[in-house]
Amino acid sequence: MLAVVVAACAPHARSGPASPPPPIQASPPVLDPPEAQAARELLVARITAKQPISPRVAGALREVPRHLFVDAPLERAYRDRPLPIGWGQTISQPLIVALMSDLLDLHGPERVLEIGTGSGYQAAVLARLAAHVDSIEIIPALADAARSRLRALGYANVDVRTGDGYLGWPERAPFDRILLTAAPPSVPGPLLEQLAEGGVLVAPVGPEGEQRLVRWRKHDGALVEDIGRRVVFVPMVPGSE
Ligand code: SAH
Repeated sequence: MLAVVVAACAPHARSGPASPPPPIQASPPVLDPPEAQAARELLVARITAKQPISPRVAGALREVPRHLFVDAPLERAYRDRPLPIGWGQTISQPLIVALMSDLLDLHGPERVLEIGTGSGYQAAVLARLAAHVDSIEIIPALADAARSRLRALGYANVDVRTGDGYLGWPERAPFDRILLTAAPPSVPGPLLEQLAEGGVLVAPVGPEGEQRLVRWRKHDGALVEDIGRRVVFVPMVPGSE
């Protein structure tokens, strides 16, 4: 397989039938001016020229105002680059957000667990593709900021928790999809346990410098690994819970 190094993220239990993604209002024009929308169009065109992605994922990238998740001028917010979000962390390169969202193969009714909320941008993209997103962030200040931001932007189907992603969110398991946006040395056991039958987990896995994107599908309790491309992510830090 072609190995491409891409800069990415440099460093309740519910029952009953799942519902399709809830409508999320567009951000008001004052927050999301036409030039930001135009910049997103261009960014999506650049991404799709490099990486085929589904129309649903492209649509979500067109809708989520990345500039409201980062402390950077509009023009920089829509470059295909990772950006600092404080606390030594970064928001992933949009191409990687697109690729990982696409690998999750979301159709609408899924319940998703994200590890590494960061700015909340990836969670917002997932919220437009799935029914519900639970996201765990280990740095309390980032978790609090992301929670407030997502609420202010109308993402009612995202819950953010401060905690250690290695443990997952057992009270809300099983999850149809799990996405890690920080890299563990290997896929944590609790997360595999919390993946629903037929579910998909996407993660950057491995030590720094040797991370690869992997996708697991849980079939009859068996997990199939699908090695993807080489990536560069911040390591997933062990928590103290
Ligand atoms: N998805 C984010 C970017 C992720 S950067 C976005 O869209 O902005 C990786 C994040 O993982 C960082 O915020 C980091 O603090 C968090 N992280 C690292 N180790 C973690 C752990 N063990 N549990 C939960 N979050 C963790």
